[in-house]
This record gives sequence, C-alpha cells and structure tokens, in this order.
Amino acid sequence: MQYISTRGETEPVGFREALFTGLAPDGGLFMPESIPRLDAEIFTGERSFAELAAMMIHPFIGEEIEQADLLDIAESAFSFPVPLVPLGDGVQILELFHGPTLAFKDFAARFMALAMQHFLEQDGEHLTILVATSGDTGGAVADAFHMLDGISVVVLYPAGRVSAIQRAQLTTLGGNVTVLEIDGSFDDCQRMVKQVFRDDELRASRRLSSANSINVGRLLPQSVYYAWAWKQAGGDQPVVFSVPCGNFGNLTAGILAARMGLPVERFIAATNANDVFPTFLRGEGFHPRASEHTLSNAMDVGSPSNLDRMRTLFGDDVGAMREHISSWSFTDDETAQAIQRTYSEHGYLADPHTAVGLLGLERHLDSTDGEAGIVLSTAHPAKFSDILVEIIDEAIPLPQSLTHSMGLEKRFHEMPADSSALKHFLLKS
Ligand SMILES: *Cc1c(COP(=O)(O)O)cnc(C)c1O
Repeated sequence: MQYISTRGETEPVGFREALFTGLAPDGGLFMPESIPRLDAEIFTGERSFAELAAMMIHPFIGEEIEQADLLDIAESAFSFPVPLVPLGDGVQILELFHGPTLAFKDFAARFMALAMQHFLEQDGEHLTILVATSGDTGGAVADAFHMLDGISVVVLYPAGRVSAIQRAQLTTLGGNVTVLEIDGSFDDCQRMVKQVFRDDELRASRRLSSANSINVGRLLPQSVYYAWAWKQAGGDQPVVFSVPCGNFGNLTAGILAARMGLPVERFIAATNANDVFPTFLRGEGFHPRASEHTLSNAMDVGSPSNLDRMRTLFGDDVGAMREHISSWSFTDDETAQAIQRTYSEHGYLADPHTAVGLLGLERHLDSTDGEAGIVLSTAHPAKFSDILVEIIDEAIPLPQSLTHSMGLEKRFHEMPADSSALKHFLLKS
C-alpha cells in the first residue's frame, strides 16, 4: 500500500515511511492511496479483537509487517476489554476507555508505538516523538512509548487546559518522557509542532516523528472498534455511530471502516462549542479559529486537522459528506444536563466527551424518528472526576492506577507558545 499526501505534492511512500514521517513534507496529511474493500466475512466472523484488528489493518501495511508479527502487535496493543454496554432505549455505549490511560487514544498510541518499535528494531536508530496534546493524546502516547528503547518522547500541552488527572498522567512518567507546559492554547501547541517539523536544521539533527492525530498510523487501529461494535450489536443491520469529535481522527477512522465495507447507516459528529465542523457541513465554509475552552477539553479544537482527510475522502464535496454525516454542536450546559440525566435515569456516569456523543445521538434520533445507535465513549469518567463531582454532587472513586500517579512527583518545563523556543529546546536536549 502506498500513502499519498492530502496536498498531493509529495511522492507516494510506503506505510513505514508514512508512519515515521508523520506530517507529509508538503505540509499535508498522509492517506492510503486507495481503501481496500474487505471480504464481508472479516466483519461477521467470530474472532478476537486482536484478530479482527490484524485482518483489517493488514491490507494497509501489506508485506511491510509480516502477518504473524502484526497479530503479535495487535495482541500486545489491544490487551484490554472493549465492551458494548446497553444504556436502554436502543442506545448502546462502546466503552473505549479500558486501556492503561483510560481514554480511547490508547488504541492508536499503543498500536503505533509497537509498530514503530517493530521497525526500529531492524535499524537501531534513535527517534524523537513530538506530540501536542489537549489532554488525552499525550498521556496515551507517553504511556505507550514509556520505557521503549531508542525512543524519546516530548509532549506539549496547554497550561491550565488539561485536567489534574491528565496532567498527573503526563508529568509523572519520567524516563524517556519529557513534558513541556506551554503558555498558550492547544492550537498553539499544534502549530509549534507543525512548524518544528518543517524546520530543516532540526530535521537534519535528529529523527523526528509525530504521534498525534495527524499520524496515519493512528487511524488504522481506530477503524477496528467500529467493526467490533457492529458485530457486538448483532452484526446484521447498518448502525448509527455517534462520535464526540475534536480533531476528527476518530470519525475519519470510522469513515475508513465504512469504506472498507462495514455497514454504517450514518455518522453523527458531535462537537462542543468548537463548532467549525457543523458550520462547514451546513455549507457555510471552513472557518478555523481559536479554540474555546469547554468541559470536554480534549475536543477543544478550533482547526481540526483531519478535516483535510475527510474532504479528500468525499472528493471535497460537502453535499456528499452530508449524505453520510450529521453534525451538531452542544454547549457546556447541555453537556452537564446530559451527564445528570444519564446518571439519574440509567445510573450510568458518562464523562463530558461521551455526554456530547450522547447528545448527538439523541438529536439524531429525535430528528429522524430513529430508534437505535451506538455512542463512542472516549474517556473513563474518573478522568474528569473534578468536573463530574460538581454536576452529580457525589464522590467519584478513582481507579487505583490514577491514585498512584496523582501521588508521584510532577516534572515538566514551562515554555512560551513560540516554536523557536521549542526548536532550541530540542536542539540542545
Ligand atoms: C481526543 C479525544 C476526543 C476527540 O477525538 P478526535 O479523534 O480528536 O476527534 C474525544 N474524547 C476524548 C476523551 C479524547 O481524548
């Protein structure tokens, strides 16, 4: 399989190169040059999550990773349960938060880390992973690469914009993980990473790779749980998926799964107040802007980078996109009410991101007389206990892994939102 840039000015590359390069040299995002249509049996057959993953991902990698090695990688990466939990009234919740950092980004990060490790073992080079995070990506990436030989990780996050738990998860790993607290927004962090990636001097001095949602290696593993959920839900009818969106990597992976042949009735792209996509989908143009701070902070994105991939997938035709995707934005008040209502009516505690997904499905079902759907739950509620306590007015027990990291010493460097500061830091470290 060859990978091409969304900007079309980069020579096609193989999976390995797309994985390590991150952002394409022309500033675009890598996409598989075609999307293989899979045999329906892959979706309907009885198999484990790791087996399903290896079968779905194999066509995108070809012979670059042997099939048996790919299965080993999938088994190590996806070593946690992925339950589909019925909420009632036809709504089911796909819990994607049972990995080590309790958020869905573990799927992408762990697969990528192990795939990179697999290739690095072959050439013994050193690699620096550079990642901007609005909360969960950094924790998942840092955790996935922590202690791997030959790899250092540098994580940037916006000061004051991540939860206490996310911050503890990021700053207490140590070892090969360096953490930079940026005096700015997530968009600033992302811009700094993008600019540094384009810097020739830096690229000559060390091998850099990104691991956030711009890396195509993240998309592939995220397609798998859509197929897994469809099978758990009965595996006969097309289903509606409601996806809480920020950078739109999760949704893009769902669209890939649908193109591979998974029967999907419709995707709901649910956002918080950062409504660049719903506006775009209404045909009112793409107007990236500074991100707004909300309760669902991992979705505080003012310029979703995966939109370029989605536009490519739909031939830059908003009308075609509307045939498959609906999108609405929800306020923090609506999110808090949804958390409260879901808890009192169903005894289910949804984190703020999942609550936005629930609102999206609810709006869809109301507007179409629809009956059923699956909400992707992207984070464990305990990760946002500081927010949830205020809403449900009850204490939320923390899982043990979290209480442990909360108690460790936090280590980070403060930095202005300036890409030359980042460049100098990298050059001397
Ligand atoms: C990253 C994240 C999202 C948004 O996912 P995208 O792929 O960026 O759209 C939603 N919820 C949580 C908890 C996240 O960490």
